[in-house]
Amino acid sequence: CGIVGYVGKRSAQDVLLDGLTKLEYRGYDSAGVALALEGGIRVVKSKGRLTALEEKLRQAQLAPSSCGIGHTRWATHGEPSDVNSHPHSTPEVSIVHNGIIENYGSLKEMLSARGYTFESETDTEVLVKLIDSCYQGDPLKALMEALAKVRGSYALAVLFRDHPDTIFAVRRESPLIVGYGEGENFVASDIPALLKYTQKYSVLEEGDIVVCKAEGLSFYNEFGEPVQRAVLTADWDI
Ligand code: GLU
Repeated sequence: CGIVGYVGKRSAQDVLLDGLTKLEYRGYDSAGVALALEGGIRVVKSKGRLTALEEKLRQAQLAPSSCGIGHTRWATHGEPSDVNSHPHSTPEVSIVHNGIIENYGSLKEMLSARGYTFESETDTEVLVKLIDSCYQGDPLKALMEALAKVRGSYALAVLFRDHPDTIFAVRRESPLIVGYGEGENFVASDIPALLKYTQKYSVLEEGDIVVCKAEGLSFYNEFGEPVQRAVLTADWDI
């Protein structure tokens, strides 16, 4: 339902919680974040309101992180629960997802035959394991290869353990934007999540993949070719 990503000099945890709060108006049943930390990606997620997630984060006392992704979920596949909440992860990859993977049943069978096991009922867990199965060190290649096998709608923000300073953002039939800061950049499903930090943003086109680092953003089309996207200015207040 709601997606936020942050990379830059601030506390990613704080920016993600703030951004998710700004997207609460869309409705949700659970929330979670994944943060790039030394030693790997840490995921904290919870059924219920954002206050439940905030409480879990207080207890977790994570070291500061400058790169992370967050989600508020509106369940479509699998009841609202801690385990069905996003992010969904493998040791290598963590994703948050808006939308529906229509062929998740057949993909799940294919991945099960390759030894993957599943703990949630979500279509999203199938997607992260599909990306994991395509990953051999090149995130862009893995995303293109995995998404070529997918039918359905998605806006995704993705973290790879090997690339702790980068968010990968992808969309098809589900909206996603990126926001531009000074030495920091943002990913979001909707403008209100960004307005406290920046008014400059770009809208991802169908099939776009964006490599989002603190120092800049690179856009690729669905064939992996570099493309340019217009920088827009949001001239409205929150
Ligand atoms: N289909 C996914 C799920 O049920 C994503 C739902 C959403 O867009 O929040 O977990």
